[in-house]
Amino acid sequence: MDTIWVLGDQLNRRIGALAGADPERHRVLLVESHAKLASKRWHRQRAHFVVTAMRRFAEELREAGFEVDDRRAASLREGFREHVEEFDPDAVIATEPASWDGLELLRDLDVDLVRSNQFLCHYDDFADWADGKNSFKMEDFYRWQRTRLGYLIDHDGEPAGGRWNFDDENREPPPKGDENPWADPQTSQLDDVDRQVLADLDEWGVETWGADPDGTWATSRRAALARLRHFVGEVLPRFGPHEDAMVERSWHLAHSVLSPYMNVGLLLPGEVCDAVQEAYDAGDVPINSAEGFIRQVIGWREYVWGVYWLWMPDYRSRNILRADRPVPPAFTGAATTDMNCVSNCVSTLHDKAYNHHIQRLMVLGNLAMLHGVDPWEMTDWMWSNFIDGAEWVMLPNVIGMSQWADGGKMATKPYAAGGNYIDKMSDYCAGCRYDRKQRVGDDACPFTTLYWDFLDRHHDRFVKNARIARQVRASERLSDLPDVRKRAVEVRRLLDEGRL
Ligand code: SF4
Repeated sequence: MDTIWVLGDQLNRRIGALAGADPERHRVLLVESHAKLASKRWHRQRAHFVVTAMRRFAEELREAGFEVDDRRAASLREGFREHVEEFDPDAVIATEPASWDGLELLRDLDVDLVRSNQFLCHYDDFADWADGKNSFKMEDFYRWQRTRLGYLIDHDGEPAGGRWNFDDENREPPPKGDENPWADPQTSQLDDVDRQVLADLDEWGVETWGADPDGTWATSRRAALARLRHFVGEVLPRFGPHEDAMVERSWHLAHSVLSPYMNVGLLLPGEVCDAVQEAYDAGDVPINSAEGFIRQVIGWREYVWGVYWLWMPDYRSRNILRADRPVPPAFTGAATTDMNCVSNCVSTLHDKAYNHHIQRLMVLGNLAMLHGVDPWEMTDWMWSNFIDGAEWVMLPNVIGMSQWADGGKMATKPYAAGGNYIDKMSDYCAGCRYDRKQRVGDDACPFTTLYWDFLDRHHDRFVKNARIARQVRASERLSDLPDVRKRAVEVRRLLDEGRL
């Protein structure tokens, strides 16, 4: 009998090696690795999510007739060794893993690899698409994917709604007042499996941070499918216009919060997009909502997956701005902060293991880049704290997109902004102790001070970049530039000390 080894982010019977599995011929191995759990200080909900989803998937397979060895072991390698010793399988088969290190491990163990179908574009196909191109833009890849996969394409081959991209309709600032039109995500009751996992994490001494699970995150395929139906029916029609907005009164707005399920296999990107296409065809969602969402899944998500494999393993060590500070204590929970935007994002992160993309990019990521946080440390921190974290998704998004540590391979300009941008796209600044308009003095917004200082410190690099040269030139003309530099030194010290 052969063994199919299923990794913790491949929890779906339609993925790779499991797609053709037969209980008569295959047994299944799942390994809960203590070394993996000990490798970082995980958010408690993240550690619970992955281990619980693995255990529920093991049960699902047993109900389908499979013999399942769901083993707890010191490491993945050790779990594999113990399994082989106990069961002596004819062969061990696995689906191509989602991480560079995972691939190296499985190759080293001589595991037979089956091509992954967990993404709509395999990384070899992405590499073929990128081959020979001087630059490969996400938008070009997205249009190629749309055409190839047929999402939101009319019968005449033209994009539905007459345009490929409705981004300009999806950047509205937050609605004023108390309006809160965004349906809450579904929740589930915790059960004995959840409680056992939490007890096990404690017993194993796994270091975690953040609140206990509250049922926000589904841990089975059945519950994840229910979350998908809820999103498409109740939330998707409002997806789009406020995609880039941040408000204190809603941690999710109209974001799908489906990424954790796709990233561990509980949902597949194709079925998610099919559900959205169906709702659009039925006239239940406007084109800007359907297009904005589909672009995130078949465009951005798959693009990030493709470039991860194209640029690894060197990509991990990219640090072109030579940033070397630690992640600020205000992010890690080691200190509180008066910066209302940061405080709001970190308290949501603590409670839900989640921030949406603009909070990640323009609050946490932006401040980290302006401050000069080591890009790998920032990547690792986000990976361990977000419910949907994984190396393949965090590396390009953090190293490339938010920290500009790759020198512009991912983003043609750094996503740097002062308090004015945050004020425009959120309701954070009105209730903040700092003044977004001031760049010097004790009341100056740290984002604003560090923004001008960032442009000044990296003047020679960015003055040649047409997309940001105007702002760099503006920094040259600041009458109080010496004071900004002085205040920036102080801000960075206070940030490092957790006293802002
Ligand atoms: Fe954040 Fe500055 Fe606005 Fe305060 S004033 S919320 S620190 S951007």
